[in-house]
Amino acid sequence: MSFATGLRCRECGREFPHQPVNICEYCFGPLEVVYDYEGIRKVLTRDRIQKGPASIWRYKDLLPVEGEVVDINAGFTPLIRAKNLGRYLGLDHLYIKNDCVNPTYSFKDRVVAVASTKAREFGLKALACASTGNLACSVAAHAARAGLKAYVFIPSDLEQGKILNTAVYAPTLVALDGSYDEVNRLCNELSDVYDWAFVNINIRSYYAEGSKTLAYEVAEQLGWQAPVNAIVPAASGSLFTKIWKGLNELATLGIIDKVATRMFLSQAAGCAPIASAAMSGSSVIKPVKPKTIAKSLAIGNPADGIYALKVVRESRGGACSAPEEEIAEGMKLLAETEGIFAETAGGVVVACLRRLAASGVIKKDELTVAYITGCGLKTLEAIADKVVPVIHIQPTVDSFKKALAEQKERPTSLLGGPRTS
Ligand SMILES: *Cc1c(COP(=O)(O)O)cnc(C)c1O
Ligand SMILES: [Zn+2]
Repeated sequence: MSFATGLRCRECGREFPHQPVNICEYCFGPLEVVYDYEGIRKVLTRDRIQKGPASIWRYKDLLPVEGEVVDINAGFTPLIRAKNLGRYLGLDHLYIKNDCVNPTYSFKDRVVAVASTKAREFGLKALACASTGNLACSVAAHAARAGLKAYVFIPSDLEQGKILNTAVYAPTLVALDGSYDEVNRLCNELSDVYDWAFVNINIRSYYAEGSKTLAYEVAEQLGWQAPVNAIVPAASGSLFTKIWKGLNELATLGIIDKVATRMFLSQAAGCAPIASAAMSGSSVIKPVKPKTIAKSLAIGNPADGIYALKVVRESRGGACSAPEEEIAEGMKLLAETEGIFAETAGGVVVACLRRLAASGVIKKDELTVAYITGCGLKTLEAIADKVVPVIHIQPTVDSFKKALAEQKERPTSLLGGPRTS
């Protein structure tokens, strides 16, 4: 049995029964899942959660699904105390939520797990999506697991790693010459023609709820408390709003204390419609034409942009856009300090964190969580010509000694040269 009682329009408040529809038929506002929190409060305890599976399904009471779930083991990823990166940035209590290690190497497994379970409940026979890359991989993998057909639509200029990481699951994979926003527009039209579960279109209300688990896990891993600061990458802005929603749900249910987390939204300068609006104090989003190496965040017309702005204001948080040339640096910094190889979206987060810490907006003694949402193996292009060179030698000690002596003269690491001594 699920505690999700139906859907409600975020604009006019009208309620609807569960259905594979994400837009209010009266005012075209987005629909959001409604829960019976009184019912949840009666059963949900820290202990019940801790006895659950080591995946997002330990929070099933707070997710809009019933019965058997589609499960490739999404979630319950590590929260790492990042002492080295913290020292570098001047932050004494920095944590990394490492969502690179999900089954398809990004946080999208959380949302797709919920969406594909719901699609099967609705009796839909195919999963589909418009993707900036990571969603493609996750939809194809979950469809394989669930025995559903998959139709995956991507912009044709995606990174090779994301294309191959999707193709291997054998979906119908369609690349379109155009931006993500054009792919999304086409998929909106296709969702009227085909009886498929477009996870981020007609199933979007359910899909988005999966992101709340990134709030629940962090609170649980911090010993049942909310962080002081959370820094989160944004494309459509959905993840950002749902982390805030998830933290506040735990407080409503008495699982954690009242939430005072400041939410910081990060985007790449080449596609920063939400961050720009937040930084200029505007409450409207001006769509942009994306031109960024952070392709997973390249949504020029973000569906949840205005709601993300509300969260920035409500939480007294902030926003940052990372200059394009700092993104690969952010990726390398995270790798060199903590041994975590994140994709470009992670580089955006680290670059923004560095700026927010340097300007004193995020302070030294505050418990700060940086959300790292995808793995670097999918975006090799971004750093291919920016990492230390491979040293080629002959198989002799002399050859190695000679190479080593030469190498010390050309430091290439951000942290002051190759660690050879
Ligand atoms: C999709 C994605 C995001 C942002 O998702 P939204 O909910 O659309 O804001 C962040 N990081 C990565 C790696 C992603 O793939
Ligand atoms: Zn409405």
